[in-house]
Amino acid sequence: MSKKTNKNIKVQLLKGFKDILPEHEKYWFYVVDKVIKIVKDYNLSFINTPVLEEAQLFERTVGEGSDIVHKEMYKFNLPKGDSEDGGKTVVLRPEGTAAVMRAYIEHGMLNQPQPVKLWYLMPMFRREKPQSGRFRQHHQFGIEVIGDQAPVIDAQVMIIVYSFLKYLGLDIKFPVNSIGDRECRPAYINALTSYLSSRQRQLCTDCKRRLKTNPLRVLDCKEEKCQLILEDAPQIVDYLCDECRNHFVAVLEYLDELDIPYELDNKLVRGIDYYERTTFEVVLKNPDEDGKNLSLGGGGRYDGLSEQLGGRPAPGVGVGLGIERIIGALRTAGVEIPSFVRYEVFIAQLGKEAKKKALRLFEDLKAEGWRVAEAFSKDSLSTQLEKADKLGVQYALILGQKEIMDGTIILRDMSSGMQEEVNFEKIKDVLKKRITQPQVIVRDLDDGDQEKDGEN
Ligand SMILES: [Zn+2]
Ligand SMILES: [Zn+2]
Repeated sequence: MSKKTNKNIKVQLLKGFKDILPEHEKYWFYVVDKVIKIVKDYNLSFINTPVLEEAQLFERTVGEGSDIVHKEMYKFNLPKGDSEDGGKTVVLRPEGTAAVMRAYIEHGMLNQPQPVKLWYLMPMFRREKPQSGRFRQHHQFGIEVIGDQAPVIDAQVMIIVYSFLKYLGLDIKFPVNSIGDRECRPAYINALTSYLSSRQRQLCTDCKRRLKTNPLRVLDCKEEKCQLILEDAPQIVDYLCDECRNHFVAVLEYLDELDIPYELDNKLVRGIDYYERTTFEVVLKNPDEDGKNLSLGGGGRYDGLSEQLGGRPAPGVGVGLGIERIIGALRTAGVEIPSFVRYEVFIAQLGKEAKKKALRLFEDLKAEGWRVAEAFSKDSLSTQLEKADKLGVQYALILGQKEIMDGTIILRDMSSGMQEEVNFEKIKDVLKKRITQPQVIVRDLDDGDQEKDGEN
């Protein structure tokens, strides 16, 4: 009986998760299309890692003091005896960099020409409060350049991000900072800790904890009372060693060279333990109505990460951009998105034999690059033509019993309704003359939203 009742309980989406629906398709394809363009432009290689990883991969690198590890990971144990991994504590991947570095080490990419330039598009999982409007599963387009510590690489990663978002029609800037390295940061953390300890009682609850686990993290607390205390706090820039200072200055010079908009932000630490030297955020150039900068993602340098994972030294720098954030920004900015699917021809059929021949014709046209639509499950011609009309195709091809006997096909101009009979064998030639084909949607930012016909 209880079973019966259970069946009637509606199964629903988990809180904080989101379905990606057909109505989101055009945004996704628009963004993915630009991802493909940018990774080709800059010759980045594809990598994706599993959703499930050992918990310690992130605990050891992102750090126990970070919000991600402290409270946001989906963490559970594999059943004992499940495999040789049975009993291990695993998590749903909360971020990409540590996972990509694990793969870099595990697959000996250190032996390839350095740096190795990688990109990924993968879902991330963070158990954030669902009511804050953040999603517990989101997707990130990330870039990791591993195996070189030259400052020009840091600048290049930011240049790639800048170009990518420009392709999309989004104008951004980079808050940027250097948080020093293993040499010079400890002295800064000491100075910051002693400054904050003397004012501990005025800090928010979170910051009181951060002071013990990850004092740097206090710097990006949004609480007003903490901000007030930070005004007179020691600044990292005064503690950078010569190497770190020179590295940072060089990064900024490369950015200046290409007029990449950045602003120095001496409180930007990004709250992840593996970062060293350059850290940056990617924010929309124009603040929203509340004067807030919408962040699309961020990144930084992680020269010690490989060693934290037991690998040989492999300095790197990377960035992660939230796809859902980008789509939200596109919608807010009112960027016009070209529809992804554009049908050129509709095939309508009438009768059993015609349906078979139409199926074949669909495959033939598709193979030659036409974008073909159909409604093969419908028998009524008017229903089919209605659909053709809705899809906005220029031409419909109509195949009936009579046309099959005569070896012809009807070509219908959907806007005028004019119909003509065409030799079936000649139909492709006729279509080629009528439609500039195949139609490729090209969108150039400087040309506004115009669509051009192009060649494939
Ligand atoms: Zn605080
Ligand atoms: Zn340093």
